[in-house]
Amino acid sequence: MGSDCIAKVVINLSLDREFDYLIPEALRGHVRVGSRVLIPFGRGKGERVGYVVGLAEGSAYPNLKSIVHVEGDREQIPQNLVNLAQWMAGYYCCSREQAVRATLPAVVRGGKIKPKKQKVVCLNPEADLATEIELIEKRAPKQAAALHALVRLKSCLVSKLEYETGIGRDVVARLEKRGLVTILDQTVQRDPFAQDTILPTTALELSADQERSLRMVTDSLEARDGQVILLHGVTGSGKTEVYLQAIARCLELERQAIVLVPEISLTPQTVERFRGRFGETVSVMHSGLSDGERFDEWSRVSQGSAAIVVGARSALFAPFRKLGLIVVDEEHETTYKQDEAPRYNARDVAVVRGKLEKATVVLGSATPSVESYANTENGKYKLAELPVRVDNCRLPKMELVDMRTEAALRGGAQIFSSRLEALIRDRLARGEQTILFLNRRGYATQMMCTLCGFVATCDECNLAYTYHRRDKQLVCHMCGALRPAPECCPACSDKNIRYTGLGTEKVESVASMLFPKATIDRMDSDTMTRKDSYRKALNAFRSGRTHILIGTQMIAKGLHFPNVTLVGVIFADLGLHIPDFRAGERTFQLLTQVAGRAGRGDMAGHVVIQSYTPFHPALQHALGHDFHAFYKEEIEMRNMLNFPPKAHMALIHFRGQDERRVSEAAERFHAGLVAQLPVEVVASPPAPSPMAKARGLFRFQISLRGGNIVAVSRLLRQLALGRRQSEVEISVDIDPQSLL
Ligand code: ADP
Ligand code: ZN
Repeated sequence: MGSDCIAKVVINLSLDREFDYLIPEALRGHVRVGSRVLIPFGRGKGERVGYVVGLAEGSAYPNLKSIVHVEGDREQIPQNLVNLAQWMAGYYCCSREQAVRATLPAVVRGGKIKPKKQKVVCLNPEADLATEIELIEKRAPKQAAALHALVRLKSCLVSKLEYETGIGRDVVARLEKRGLVTILDQTVQRDPFAQDTILPTTALELSADQERSLRMVTDSLEARDGQVILLHGVTGSGKTEVYLQAIARCLELERQAIVLVPEISLTPQTVERFRGRFGETVSVMHSGLSDGERFDEWSRVSQGSAAIVVGARSALFAPFRKLGLIVVDEEHETTYKQDEAPRYNARDVAVVRGKLEKATVVLGSATPSVESYANTENGKYKLAELPVRVDNCRLPKMELVDMRTEAALRGGAQIFSSRLEALIRDRLARGEQTILFLNRRGYATQMMCTLCGFVATCDECNLAYTYHRRDKQLVCHMCGALRPAPECCPACSDKNIRYTGLGTEKVESVASMLFPKATIDRMDSDTMTRKDSYRKALNAFRSGRTHILIGTQMIAKGLHFPNVTLVGVIFADLGLHIPDFRAGERTFQLLTQVAGRAGRGDMAGHVVIQSYTPFHPALQHALGHDFHAFYKEEIEMRNMLNFPPKAHMALIHFRGQDERRVSEAAERFHAGLVAQLPVEVVASPPAPSPMAKARGLFRFQISLRGGNIVAVSRLLRQLALGRRQSEVEISVDIDPQSLL
């Protein structure tokens, strides 16, 4: 160890290589893998920040420069995470620098945010207060008052003293001069929970199924065997309670735990359940934190004052040094996949981190991904099942309404079937609540002129604008471009503009006409624009003030409201017809999740699914609450067509402003690729992507499928990473979750 005098450093620049630096005598032993260092780089005198990814005894290069400075006495990235980043770079075909970067929050990398310090005043224990107070009572009444207050409070933030007693800083300063008080700089936590009161909870008595599942997890924790366990439990079966008790065991074993939840279900409700059980030792990481809060949360984890992290995707990289358990809740969620480099899937990387650190990994879901379930069949993962809801509370009654019949009977497409409308009226009369789900926001998906056929489309994306009525705007849901909605057709000036296709805003407006007395609220990314709007809307719903809640997938997951006895899915076919082999799986998952919001209390739940393709297997199996039947049919199809998990898959994207150049680049790449491709991997010819143009860029893609795509990773790296400078951007997506 002592003889390592060379550090391999990656630099905050887009260069996919490590640079060797000399570790000067004085810094030997202080520079470790994961250390943040300052190094001279390039011709100028400038210094840059880099991270050490390896140490060596010698270097192949002469005349090495030396590391100037190493920050902190401990490495910023634990060795295990450095190894994990190396693995990610190899597997996901990204640069090492990108992979290392992913392990640290931007606020920590940037180094601009510092711990927050505040002045604290406390009494000097040696001072003879009684005498002193008497002495100054007359002459300096304010100082005396301050002393009185401090006798009561012992020590206190200077700002708080000022706020509570009106005693200014100058007074405190004079007391300090007299030697009666001391003023200290204290690091204070920026606490994202400051405004919450959370009731403590204790472990519940488990059902036999929960007990069995928990045992499987704790056995692995105790054995430190890095086992992966898929916890397949229907909605409301008490998966979270299993996580909580597994974490408790993990803490007893003096190890740490990470809980990943999809960003969208990282609600105050979810966080409360962990804080309620474990209190202060829970750290939360999500996109709603301020930079300061994020920095502090990360520091708490790094210093070991938090032992549990609950967070979205990137919380996987929490810098724990004695990790025992990783829970990935809703493991099937696509938001675990990052859609920019490194294009990693946090669920899969969690499994690898578990292997590297001998930590147990629990993947939980009511609707496991086909990939994960297949891994329980081939023995890679263990399977734990919770087939019934807690207290045998029944799964909701599912009912399908054929909207084709509805349209035929009522002379046109409807938003509310008579059946759904009647059930909503019934709930309103009984004081129970309804959730209406439609996975598309806005008012209408198309603005068309009935005279000349003009359709308003975004030039940048070749996509029809969505009409948002409240703001009277046309919005491109691809690039976010906005323009005012025209009063008459821009092409022929006719006033007969028709809006077709529906979104949540339209559902809301129709619902408020049908149910004028009901209080209706809408939750989607158009209405949830303020930091606290989410919490407010949920609180209003929880308290019963809101009778009907309309929303997109934002309300599909994780919410637990016992008074909701009806869930209506307005248009279940929405996701079925996109060109993606997972369309059926996604629809099955979404319907099951949404349905799980109904009947979580003592009252039975009822779910109405409106559809124009009522016989689609994904709908039929969701209707029967039958994951196993769905899986069986789906895996057969995947095996037959050689789709994942039968084969690995990779997509290579080409993007650029000039369509011909993009196409040529794809052709050239393809030629180079097939010349070297192993026989068991098949590459599709380059073709325009299903979304052929977005944000002004033309898009082409090549897809690869084969038994061992990892073997081609290296080849792809060479071909893709070498060409960054050209006008066509090339990117590689391994195990893609979106094929568009
Ligand atoms: P899931 O995560 O599987 O959807 P939850 O963990 O949210 O299910 O559990 C649903 C409800 O059942 C919660 O209110 C939870 O507190 C309660 N619960 C879970 N396990 C038990 C148990 N063993 N005994 C009593 N109530 C339980
Ligand atoms: Zn656009």
